[in-house]
Amino acid sequence: MMALKSNAPTRAFIQQVLVKEWLDSCHKGELLAALKQHWKCYVLVVLGHGYDPAKEDRLAEKFLFRPMEFFLCNGDPEVKFKELKEKDCPSQFCGKVFKYGEPTYSCRDCANDPTCVLCIDCFQKSDHKKHRYKMSTSGGGGYCDCGDSEAWKTAPFCSNHQAKQHDTSQENPMERLPDELTDRASALLMAVLRYTMEMLTWEQCDNLPPDLQPEGELEDSYITMLFNDEVHTYEQVIVALQRAVDCTQKEAVEFATTVDREGRSNVRSGNFSSCEKARNIIEHNTSRHGNKPLKVQVMHTIVVAHQAFALKIIQWLQTIIGKSDGLRHLFCVLSMQPQEDGQSIMEKLLLIDTQLWKVARVNNHQLIMAGVLMDLECKKQFAILFTKHYPTLVRDFIRDDHYRSVSITSLSVQIFTVPTLARMLVTEYNLLDVIMQSFLKCCEEKKNNEGKLAFDRGDRNQAFKRACYMLYDMKYALTCKPSDHEWTDKLRENFLKGLRSFLSLLKMMQGMDAVIRQTGTHLEYEPEWEGAFNLQLKQDDIIAEFINWCGQDKLTLIGAYKITMDILSQCKDKPATVKREYKSVAGFKAKCVRYDVSGQHVSIHLPLTRFMAGLCLHLEKHGLNFNSPELAMDSLTPVDLIEPPLRVLVMIAQTQANMWRRNGYGLLNQIFFYHNVKCRREMYDKDIVMLQVGASVIDSNEFLIHLMNKFGLLAWASLEYDVPGSQEDMIKQTVTLAEEFLNLLIIIIGERYVEGVGDVTSADTVQREIIHQLCISPMAHSELSKALPEDSNHETGIEQVINLVSTFKKSATNSSGRFELKKDSYQEYNKYFYHYSRAEQSKSEEAQIERKKHENEGQALPPPNPKKFKQNFQPITNLLQCDMMLYLMHLLLQRTAAKRSRSWSEGQLDRILHIIGLALLEQRRATNEGDHSFDFLSKAINDDRNIMSIMEGLVGNANLTHESTKDLLTWTLKLFLEVRKLKNDPVSMDTLDQLSSSTNRNHDETKKLKAKMAAKRRAKIMAQMSTMQKNFIKENAELFQSADSELSRTSSDMDISELQSGGFPVALGRNRSKVASPVPCKGMCILCQEEQEVKHSGRAMVLAAFVQRSTVLSQCRRKFPSKDDDDHDYLFSPSDLTSGTYTSSCGHVMHFDCWQRFFDAVVMRERRRPIRFRSNLSYNIEQNEFLCPLCESISNTVIPVVPSLPSLVPDSNKDDANLTFNDWLDGLHKSVQSSRKETDIKEAKDTVAYEFEPSPLNAITKMMAESVASNFRLLWQSFQNDSTLFAQSLTDMVKKFGRDVYSFGLNVEPDDGNVRVPFMAWSTCVFTLQSIEQQLKVEEKPLFGAMSSRQSDCLSALIKFACIFNLVIPQNLIKQHCLRLLSALMPEANRTRKDGQSILDIDMFGYLLTLTVTLPSLYTDCQAPSMGTLPTGGLGDHHALKLVLTAHIVQIMLTCDIPSQGMMEIEADNEGEALLRIYTFIRKEAKMEGESENPVQPWQLSQYLRKACLPFLRCAALLYRQITEVPAPRSLQELNDDEFEPLCRYLALPPQLSTLFESQGDIITSLVQQWCHNDNIGSQMMTASSEKIISYPRRVNRLVTLPEDYSELINEVSSFTCPKSDGDESRAPTMCLVCGKMLCSQSYCCQADVDGTTCGAATEHTVSCGAGIGIFLRVRECQILLLAGKSKGCFVPPPYLDVYGETDQGLRRGNPLTLCQTSYKALEKLWFTHSIPQTIAHNLESHSNLLTIDWQHL
Ligand SMILES: [Zn+2]
Ligand SMILES: [Zn+2]
Ligand SMILES: [Zn+2]
Ligand SMILES: [Zn+2]
Ligand SMILES: [Zn+2]
Ligand SMILES: [Zn+2]
Ligand SMILES: [Zn+2]
Repeated sequence: MMALKSNAPTRAFIQQVLVKEWLDSCHKGELLAALKQHWKCYVLVVLGHGYDPAKEDRLAEKFLFRPMEFFLCNGDPEVKFKELKEKDCPSQFCGKVFKYGEPTYSCRDCANDPTCVLCIDCFQKSDHKKHRYKMSTSGGGGYCDCGDSEAWKTAPFCSNHQAKQHDTSQENPMERLPDELTDRASALLMAVLRYTMEMLTWEQCDNLPPDLQPEGELEDSYITMLFNDEVHTYEQVIVALQRAVDCTQKEAVEFATTVDREGRSNVRSGNFSSCEKARNIIEHNTSRHGNKPLKVQVMHTIVVAHQAFALKIIQWLQTIIGKSDGLRHLFCVLSMQPQEDGQSIMEKLLLIDTQLWKVARVNNHQLIMAGVLMDLECKKQFAILFTKHYPTLVRDFIRDDHYRSVSITSLSVQIFTVPTLARMLVTEYNLLDVIMQSFLKCCEEKKNNEGKLAFDRGDRNQAFKRACYMLYDMKYALTCKPSDHEWTDKLRENFLKGLRSFLSLLKMMQGMDAVIRQTGTHLEYEPEWEGAFNLQLKQDDIIAEFINWCGQDKLTLIGAYKITMDILSQCKDKPATVKREYKSVAGFKAKCVRYDVSGQHVSIHLPLTRFMAGLCLHLEKHGLNFNSPELAMDSLTPVDLIEPPLRVLVMIAQTQANMWRRNGYGLLNQIFFYHNVKCRREMYDKDIVMLQVGASVIDSNEFLIHLMNKFGLLAWASLEYDVPGSQEDMIKQTVTLAEEFLNLLIIIIGERYVEGVGDVTSADTVQREIIHQLCISPMAHSELSKALPEDSNHETGIEQVINLVSTFKKSATNSSGRFELKKDSYQEYNKYFYHYSRAEQSKSEEAQIERKKHENEGQALPPPNPKKFKQNFQPITNLLQCDMMLYLMHLLLQRTAAKRSRSWSEGQLDRILHIIGLALLEQRRATNEGDHSFDFLSKAINDDRNIMSIMEGLVGNANLTHESTKDLLTWTLKLFLEVRKLKNDPVSMDTLDQLSSSTNRNHDETKKLKAKMAAKRRAKIMAQMSTMQKNFIKENAELFQSADSELSRTSSDMDISELQSGGFPVALGRNRSKVASPVPCKGMCILCQEEQEVKHSGRAMVLAAFVQRSTVLSQCRRKFPSKDDDDHDYLFSPSDLTSGTYTSSCGHVMHFDCWQRFFDAVVMRERRRPIRFRSNLSYNIEQNEFLCPLCESISNTVIPVVPSLPSLVPDSNKDDANLTFNDWLDGLHKSVQSSRKETDIKEAKDTVAYEFEPSPLNAITKMMAESVASNFRLLWQSFQNDSTLFAQSLTDMVKKFGRDVYSFGLNVEPDDGNVRVPFMAWSTCVFTLQSIEQQLKVEEKPLFGAMSSRQSDCLSALIKFACIFNLVIPQNLIKQHCLRLLSALMPEANRTRKDGQSILDIDMFGYLLTLTVTLPSLYTDCQAPSMGTLPTGGLGDHHALKLVLTAHIVQIMLTCDIPSQGMMEIEADNEGEALLRIYTFIRKEAKMEGESENPVQPWQLSQYLRKACLPFLRCAALLYRQITEVPAPRSLQELNDDEFEPLCRYLALPPQLSTLFESQGDIITSLVQQWCHNDNIGSQMMTASSEKIISYPRRVNRLVTLPEDYSELINEVSSFTCPKSDGDESRAPTMCLVCGKMLCSQSYCCQADVDGTTCGAATEHTVSCGAGIGIFLRVRECQILLLAGKSKGCFVPPPYLDVYGETDQGLRRGNPLTLCQTSYKALEKLWFTHSIPQTIAHNLESHSNLLTIDWQHL
């Protein structure tokens, strides 16, 4: 596809000639024209053909970039650039630009602000590694700040970027460039920059500028270009594309991905009309529903090609300026140079940003970062430019629809956070005002007619949201406050200018969202409230920084104070609406503001007032106070100032008194956030400060009246109030309000932990917060951090004080730990701590009383000793001794003493005692310090109002019911005495004695009451405990069920007493131990609660069970099970155990019919649900899934419960049979031979198919000697007369379970007639047994007696099921299977079969089980199933075991690879010698290579063999234990180093394995030979593909090994790219913990089709790696993902913990994380024990929000 119609003559490309031409033109100053002449042709040649990207790059390199480099260097660039590089001073800056997801590190000790970060390389080589660092991942953009001394308080350099010896910052690096090179470089850089600008902004779609337009007519070759926006979803784009350009779903996804990544994509190439048509369809399809259509352009190929070249140039420029400091500096200077039109290239680049598509922008930004931002001087110039154009840039950004990260405005963080730059910009370029003015412009649209901001709930306009990014810029600009000497008049002036603008924003918020109390009806609509809080949150840091700056400089502070006062006075209530009036109580009066909070508007937003409060905190350190003449303003009185916050606090008190209940949740939410730790710093806390300011300057008596007036408590405070007659219903309200009022007083007087109010440091403040949190209960680090306020650097300051007040205690059960308060710190506890929520207050109170009881202290919770006020706030203490206060104290104490006071409450008494306590503590301090101005004491023991004597009278008063209040009274009285003594008041010591005795008496009196109360409490606690226990059990159902199983078994593993013969139990053969006739087993149906005996003939019982496919035991993970592989013969389990079917059960028993009814009901219920709710279930009824009705374990079938097998087998003389192994083998060998029937050689060429025609027993015995024959016959004696048949219900259940195992195990439709049904039934038993055997080994548990009862019930049911399954299939079929099994180990002697089953391929335990259950049927002559065909553990089974074990040993000997140990002589070992003989023989027969120099030692072989066959023997023991019910020997019930001997004895095997070969007759010898002769063995051993050869014991699978340090993983995935879309970063890299593969999860690029569903990479991976089940680590989120099936999954905590033992899902906290082996083991166990589906079901069941996640897309 050429863009030119006539193949225009392409000029021959000779680089030398070209470069020469360019050099000449350069001399003439016409380089650009010459370059364009070349590009006119070659840009099309290279980029106009739609070559693949790799080819384009190659061609571009050759034809476009190499020549320019040659020109630049005037010689070989390789050499020249190297020379230049050598002249560089090693760079001081790292400047590495971060990719998305790359790990970044910040130092909490040294970073100037949290935006200062290091790349991993620098971090590893820096000092900060030893500091408190924080880890996080980059969102893309931004660069490493290593080497920037302004970013770090200490250690700004890593060892790679060490500061240079001599300072070269003054030196101009350009001077190091050769002159002529500078000339050429200038010309070239300028030329390419101009061209780039021209092309990027080129707006015509089918023409180029004349000097680039090729000669001749253009070909009709166009491109439909689709641009991205952030409005349309992926799906919308994909659908539109499929319609418009007729592409597949996959191609559409690719286009959409490109659009998303690059900002535009070529979705169609062709002639103009076809491209135009596509454009129309896309626009039409995406413009419905009133949406703006997707942007689509039809462009000529030549335009697109030149734009592509321009992009490549930008990337090329980055590499060129990276070649040398000089070139970079030159580039910077050139790009900053004003052009003809007065604007520099850089300026233009800034301004065109929003016109460009995504990838063009990102490339530009990277060029800026790698260029001008790396050069100190240029960065400064750039910063000025940026500030100059700031209003335009943000305007464009707000109109634009791309994310902030691809906007040029996001570079502000690189500029405004540099302290020197920011300072320069604020001082010289008025930065603060520039930013604020732009923001205010956006606020204008949000103003209502009162001039306040008003947000709309339904407003979908993003403009304001985008505008709010300016507030971040504001914060950056303020981050570093100037030091004292940096303040200049100019800085002050411009700072205050900025402040004034900022305050006008606060003015728009002052009083916004005002509420009015609803009476009568509830509010109809919840008013909008979130907008204001969002804005407030974004401003908090700015406010704090402004105040910090102001506090730094006296002149600035005075200026700011005046401005604030001025603006605040503009917000005053209009005089017309608010009147003043005199109010009085008990002879005191004050002129109050008449404003009824319960009837007029109140706004919780008072940012101006609060800003004022913030300023007040800084006055004192500059020698100012509220009355200083410098601050004199008469526009607002102190009473005006406290009015707004007081209204808010009164409104909240009224809410407590239930007066605002009709105002709905909107108000409650506002109040919640007002107090919340995230907002309170600039809301609640500042309101308190403002009231404290008021309390310091307003006369104390008047102040109290103002408060009471606003609370509506003036009447309450009058003596007459208690006289009956006032309205009853008001009283309760008033009591609450009075308590709230006293609370506020306690806070105003007692809260002194704010810097500026009290004599405290910020560390004191944090410490106090921590103490009060830990008084609630011990807390984990994260819990505590969340409860503490953060400063603008997101620091809580917790670390510097936490260890002073608390100790960290690790918990015993898991690895996380909690902080516990140190004993000393408890005395700092203040019950009325102002940051406590109501719930926290009562919790802490309870905990503290409990603690004091425990330590036998009194229960009083007195006020802690308060800090000293700062000078300015000292007058507050006057409140404690003013007459009004003493009046109130007296009043409340009197009401306590009164017989019946209507307005009294114990809460009021407790609070007033607290205040009296505060007064006494203040008195003690004053006295100690010799301060005589404070004299509470003399007023309190004044004759006419002797507070102390009333208090003495209250001791023992019956009105006091709370121990803590009584004890507080005593405590206060004691303090009274102490203070009086201190003041040398005559105190009779009697009083103290009396006091103690009175309290004693008091105790006596109340003892009875107490005892009664205690009993009551105990009863309550017991009741509580029992419910808690019930809940606990319910929550942990799994755990508790395993402890008490529902099947009450009568013969347990632990019980040997029933063994009649005594001695060592033997399970097999003629001499096996006799078992007492088993007591019938009973089960209780969990559905009908009826108990029933488990019988073969009764109503069948079933266990809820779950069947799942599994690859947990796979020895060959690369070979994955393919779905429905009809060819696979499941009669033989493969030795690599690639996949299997695992059955588990929760152990709960039901009647089959009870279960059926239950299940039908579940299905019915689900069918009736509307389709859209169907998927909202933790179980999938389409897959037969249900939850166990008792424990809610996920289940998908039921296993029938079968009575013990020996009880079913009728007595017989089978056991009298006496037949040697050789004779037995001989008989079976004959059977196989005579039953083998060669079929006609049909079409088959070289394969010979066999079919068996089972010979009758007579035919075989005829060939035997008579004595042998009779014994042989005896083995198969059958029982015609036997009438014990299974009940139909049991048979049905056996069939059902078999059908389900077949269908779930193979993932196919049920098919009862399928030949593989029995194979699957047997193989799930085999697989489950082997899996449990491994589980026991991994958990280091003994083989018997340690299984959970769920496991053993399930195993028992499974084995019995496998044994009786042949009763439900035609006997003839079983005979066939049996013969086919036998023939594998008894091949035809003189026939080698290429496709013959090699014994290496067979899993011998599977073989054993299948043989055991089929062999008894071999000669049965009845077609009806019979109990006589059940295995019994008799002689036949014994011989079968020996045969299979022999074959297994041959397997082991063929595959073993014993490392040579050299000659090590140990005692002669006959067994070893014998084994070595067999080993040598076998290997020779198999034609394996001769022995190495160091031959295997006999002892080695013998040891190896014992170890290798252990798993087989263990499984066999588990199997025969169930078949025969012979109890296991004690030595296998405990952990035992030597299991081999007891296993052999239990299984009646000779402990000398060699005897299996050497004294068993000649048949076995010849069989061994034939096994070794199999051709396949040879070829398998030859093709050293070790994957294929399974050696024994089989490997026990583990999850992959994870690194200790989590950042290693993050770093690893930062370089992981999507495997499907070449080289792109992956958004959610996810690691399979089973095989270690990294996947590109949750992303369109890697979706795949699985059985008709579109699935994400993780889900797709589970199909092949875990047979549908997966366990993954989502690296960026730091969480574990569990998946089961295509639709279900859950997240669980990762095994990585921080130093406090806590996980960090989502990496929000950023503490360094290390691997916790215990948690990882627990995860591994989850996987290894097949518990993933169960865990998911439980999680989905308890967190319904998880159901909404599309798990299959992960
Ligand atoms: Zn770095
Ligand atoms: Zn560095
Ligand atoms: Zn540090
Ligand atoms: Zn029942
Ligand atoms: Zn259950
Ligand atoms: Zn991908
Ligand atoms: Zn995997």
